[in-house]
Amino acid sequence: MDQREKALRRDEWKCQKCGADLGLENAEVHHLRPVRDTSSSEELNRLENLTSLCSSCHEEQTEHNEWQRQEP
Ligand SMILES: [Zn+2]
Repeated sequence: MDQREKALRRDEWKCQKCGADLGLENAEVHHLRPVRDTSSSEELNRLENLTSLCSSCHEEQTEHNEWQRQEP
């Protein structure tokens, strides 16, 4: 099982923003920390760095890039 599917299972196949049901065809996995903020692909694809979104929320998120910026 790849990281994408693990993240989707952990999030119970629900969009973490709007709560929509996700399926393989509309599920998107978003990186909370973008590529430029991570030092390795391992860190980038860590389960804690992944969140499940539907395609419309992901599109919105990519455009505005302001949602859930969690500081440690
Ligand atoms: Zn959504």
